[in-house]
Amino acid sequence: MAYIEPAPLLDKENPFEAMMSRFQTASQILGLEDEIYNVLKSPAKQVIVSLPVTMDDGSIRVFEGYRVIHSTILGPSKGGIRFDPHVNLDEVKALAAWMTWKCAVVDIPYGGGKGGVACNPREMSAGEIERLVRSYTQAMMGVFGPDQDIPAPDMGTGPREMAWLMDQYSRNKGMTVSAVVTGKPIVMGGSLGRTEATGRGVMVSALAAMEKLKINPYKATCAVQGFGNVGSWAARLLAERGLKVVAVSDISGAYYNENGIDIDAAIAYRDKNKGSLDGYAEVEKIAGADLLTLNVDVLVPAATEDVITGSNAGKIQAKLIVEGANGPTSSKADNIIFEKGISVVPDILANAGGVTVSYFEWVQNRLGYKWTAERVNRRSDRIMKDAFINVYNTSVQYKVSLRIAAYMVAIDKVAKTYKFRGGY
Ligand code: NAD
Repeated sequence: MAYIEPAPLLDKENPFEAMMSRFQTASQILGLEDEIYNVLKSPAKQVIVSLPVTMDDGSIRVFEGYRVIHSTILGPSKGGIRFDPHVNLDEVKALAAWMTWKCAVVDIPYGGGKGGVACNPREMSAGEIERLVRSYTQAMMGVFGPDQDIPAPDMGTGPREMAWLMDQYSRNKGMTVSAVVTGKPIVMGGSLGRTEATGRGVMVSALAAMEKLKINPYKATCAVQGFGNVGSWAARLLAERGLKVVAVSDISGAYYNENGIDIDAAIAYRDKNKGSLDGYAEVEKIAGADLLTLNVDVLVPAATEDVITGSNAGKIQAKLIVEGANGPTSSKADNIIFEKGISVVPDILANAGGVTVSYFEWVQNRLGYKWTAERVNRRSDRIMKDAFINVYNTSVQYKVSLRIAAYMVAIDKVAKTYKFRGGY
């Protein structure tokens, strides 16, 4: 790898730049050939479409939609569709690459993709959103497919949009094609266990890491940032496994109780309080940022990107960080944390429980069969545990962080498969 510059130390960076800098570092340690590095760096396909949609007032608006297939080396590409005003091609390209590494690290037979439409779904009616989803699906008929490219929900989309996408695709094919998309409502082929899957994977990888670090879960304390889907499920499942969750937070602030927070009660409060912990009086309120530097054994950032940076990494007291969110740690913070001897289970591993159960949804749809929640959980736990052990062993062998080891495992798998498949 003669001409590849050393990865820059970035802080407060675009999380996708951070991902690319780790990809670069891992490639160098693996001694990846320049040619292969260039293949893996470049998205395989980028599609941009103009989507005319009739709005409720009768006017026609044109939205710009994207789908980027980063890689299909391991299998059909997999990745969500984002509806957000800030969607742009660069972001979609980076998120697509992220999916390639995430699928590879947990060893599921998928490549990586991502899609998006620049729009503000909060300002659109259900009818307008439905027409946009159908228009987008129609434009992507040559891209999507159960053996080609399988979308899923992301920011601004959910089961409702996936149902419309499946229906539009199926109408074109003249038959029901459930496996073209995951994240569907359960009645129409969604998988049991998907809602809690990401938080569950966070729990499984946290326990696997604690075993290696010889932290007894029954004597351990934990703080969880973010109390949405990932954070609240991670908190609940970690508490069920014996950890004392002393702090949780959401956008309204952080909530602390040194004797442990009753997570089920906090979830019940949030659900009655429009999704927010604001006003939760059973516990002490502290500043949101202080949660990250509490004296706990395990810290789970499960809210948003770029929260552990060069400015607060030095103050972190946890022995273990398990990244429920995508991109919560800057690459500059990585080095500070590594030097402090704190272990980090990285996002591409820790939050891959979600894509794993999406893969199970696709498998069930193709089998024409429905698994019980127990079967889904048992199989996803196994995949998460095996992936952790593989990454851990790589980190010991190469004396690198779990993050770099996770990228090495992923890149190595894709690179080896590419070489076996061959090119022209
Ligand atoms: P969500 O919208 O359900 O919840 C986000 C939570 O974070 C909310 O409680 C919100 O109030 C809180 N929050 C936002 N900004 C905060 C801040 N600055 N400080 C403290 N709390 C803050 O989202 P989610 O689905 O739980 O996703 C959370 C993260 O996990 C995102 O980074 C997402 O990309 C990632 N992720 C989610 C899944 C999934 O299956 N949902 C899968 C992989 C990765």
